[in-house]
Amino acid sequence: MDYKGIFERAYRFMDVNLTEGNCGESCGYHCCRNIDESGKIFGLYFLPFEYELMQKGKGLIDESRTEVHTKIAYEMPKGVRKLYYGFCKDNKNCIRELRPIQCRTYPLVPHLESGVLSLVIEKNQEHQCPLIQKRELWNTEFEVGILNGWKELLQISQIKVMIEYESEERIKKENIQYL
Ligand code: SF4
Ligand code: SF4
Repeated sequence: MDYKGIFERAYRFMDVNLTEGNCGESCGYHCCRNIDESGKIFGLYFLPFEYELMQKGKGLIDESRTEVHTKIAYEMPKGVRKLYYGFCKDNKNCIRELRPIQCRTYPLVPHLESGVLSLVIEKNQEHQCPLIQKRELWNTEFEVGILNGWKELLQISQIKVMIEYESEERIKKENIQYL
């Protein structure tokens, strides 16, 4: 299977803005911050194969700080052995065309329930985008593009396993706001 082709198509489908223009200008790029109010430093997870195929050597991520998280220390679904966790080189000047899936899909996440894919919002999350409750401002193409991107990505079995696992956790913790 051509994983790189799948990622390239997904990046294209997901090259849509949440609102007209750049929503980050209205909130000070809140979801790009790399340190939270309590001082906790955080980066972002890449999907299985995404770092190697789409990010390594491209210049968006500070590769000297990239971490490999493995099953030994982190909870992961069966079938996923490691995930890359990285930090942006400059989170105030994003190279937007390179931004990873996690940044494209936010504030939506893919959710699989009874085998059906939908997009939902997590109630408990790190960022709390100020536009979550202002759906009337969303670009109408955003949800369509993001859903199509996830349909592509779910062809990769390790990604599907991850999304199934995260969906189960979400249901268990009642951490879902359906659209
Ligand atoms: S927090 Fe929401 S409004 Fe702000 S940049 Fe992120 S997605 Fe856009
Ligand atoms: S890749 Fe870009 S959009 Fe994503 S967190 Fe970094 S600076 Fe923000």
